[in-house]
Formats: sequence, C-alpha cells, structure tokens
Amino acid sequence: MTATLIDGKQISAECRKETAASAEQFVNETGVRPHLAAVLVGDDPASQVYVRNKELACERAGLQSTLHRLPAETTQQELLALVQTLNEDVSVHGILVQLPLPSHLNSTQILDAITPLKDVDAFHPENVGRLLQGRPRFLPCTPAGVMKMLEVSGTETAGRRVTIVGRSDIVGKPMAALLLQKGADATVTICHSRTAEIAEECRRAEILIAAVGIPEFVRGDWVRPGAVIIDVGINRVGDRLAGDVEFAAAAERAAAITPVPGGVGPMTIAMLLQNTLHAARLQHGFVS
Ligand code: NDP
Repeated sequence: MTATLIDGKQISAECRKETAASAEQFVNETGVRPHLAAVLVGDDPASQVYVRNKELACERAGLQSTLHRLPAETTQQELLALVQTLNEDVSVHGILVQLPLPSHLNSTQILDAITPLKDVDAFHPENVGRLLQGRPRFLPCTPAGVMKMLEVSGTETAGRRVTIVGRSDIVGKPMAALLLQKGADATVTICHSRTAEIAEECRRAEILIAAVGIPEFVRGDWVRPGAVIIDVGINRVGDRLAGDVEFAAAAERAAAITPVPGGVGPMTIAMLLQNTLHAARLQHGFVS
C-alpha cells in the first residue's frame, strides 16, 4: 500500500477531547449539562449498536444522554407525541431519531416535527435550507466529519475536482453543499444510479467520496493516481465490515485513503457531540 491512512479513530478522539473540554466549561458557566435525547423505535440490531455507541460517546465527553426505546409497533401519533414532549423539555438540547424507522412510520413527518433548534442531525428543512444558503445552524454530522478529515490530513479543497458517488439526503447532498461553501470552494460532481460513465467521473476526481452502500463499488482502477479517497460506506459482508471502495487496489494508487472501519464512522459520532454542545449553547443564548 502506498497511500497514507487517514485515521478517523485518532482524529475523532481529538475532536471528542475538545468537545469534552468545551462542555465542561459550559457546565461551569451555566450549571447545565448539554443533553442529547435519542429515540430508538424497534429492535433493528445495527440501530441498537449505533445508538449505544452514541450514548457511550456522550458519557465519555461529559454530555448527558437519554435513550427513549419504543416498541416496533409504535404508532405515528405516539412517536410524534414523544418528539413534541422532547421539543418542549428545556433540559433536552438535542433530539436524535435513529433511522431507519419501521416501514409503517412516516420518517419525513417525524424528522420535520423536531424543533430546528434541537435538530442535531441537521435533517430539518429549515436547517438544510440554511446550509444551502451558506449560513448553517448545525453541520450535518457525516459530511462535517469528512470535512474535518480533509482539513486534518492537509487536503486542500479549493479549486479541486471532487466527485461524490451517492446523492442521499444524509450524505451525498449535504456533502456537496459543504464542499461548495465559500471557503471550501471545490468543484463538485455528484454521481448516482443514473450517471453515465461513472468510472470516468471517478477517474477525474482529485478527491473521491464514496457513499453508495454497495461493498467495494468503487474499483481500484477508477482511482486517479494521487487522489484522496474518502470511503463513507459501511457494509456488512459476512462477519466483516467493508466500505464502498475496493480498498487494497485503491490504496495502491491514492495519495491518502480512509479505512473501514475506523474512518468516517467515528467522525460522525464526534460531530454529533459537537452539535449537541452547539445546541445547548444556542438554547442558552451563547450563540445565535
Ligand atoms: P442511500 O442508499 O440513501 O444512498 C445511496 C446512493 O448511492 C444513492 O444516491 C444511489 O443513487 C447511489 N447508488 C446506488 N447504487 C448505485 C449505482 N449502481 N451506481 C451509482 N450510484 C448508486 O445510502 P446513504 O447515503 O445513507 O449511505 C451510503 C453508505 O454510507 C452506506 O454504506 C451507509 O451505511 C454508509 N453511511 C455511513 C455513515 C458513517 O457514519 N460512516 C453515515 C451514513 C451512511 P440513486 O439516488 O440514483 O438511487
């Protein structure tokens, strides 16, 4: 392997340390501990692990977290009522509804019901709109984690060609929005399932970001020599986790690459903690 590894575990540990120090300062100044309320509906095993990891990360950074577990047969009205209670609870600063929700529930309506000031995932239309206008309230966690990895690894984005594979509301689209911001100034191409000649689009990329959800979708020979590769994918293949990039072959051509696991995943949680602290500051009038 010739590429440098961009170590998400290490970078996220630094971020979490900074958040913990700032959270302690906030507690000293206000007597209030930043508080994340997580909602988990049903018993999807992957979601249980994600929520548990978020809880543990909160604990370690000195943030309060409360998990609301609801049965799989919870109705839309019951879930909306819980969100409303959390919206009105002044001791709760951030609200996270773990996705995916069981299929009988309307996720869009639930996410829209979270008050924008507590929307630490940055999914609410008001927060998405603000991001697109270049005045974000919360940074979307996974894309913000990717930006942090680019920054810490010394990867310049200004004027560079970035290709994002995937156009989801959670990763691809907000990733493009962040890279387009003034200050980031990248030239962005977004690919999806109807993109023609996707290999060629990838080969043009100086920075290639994969968020497809298909193991090793991006082949090693799609990587431009010297490119920086960010692999957002987390896919279970038998008893191991695989990214969306053919890692070994890509690492032979790339200048730098993120591993899976230990890449973008830990960064997403670190950014969630930052957003929870930011939410507490917002609600206590420290920032507007
Ligand atoms: P989605 O399924 O919501 O989106 C996948 C995207 O990939 C879609 O835009 C889809 O295109 C595109 N796509 C699918 N098949 C192809 C294809 N054959 N050619 C080109 N494009 C294709 O996934 P997410 O964005 O939510 O997640 C992507 C991956 O990232 C998953 O592995 C997920 O587990 C992981 N993930 C990791 C996170 C982390 O913290 N590291 C956080 C969130 C996600 P179209 O729109 O046309 O259907």
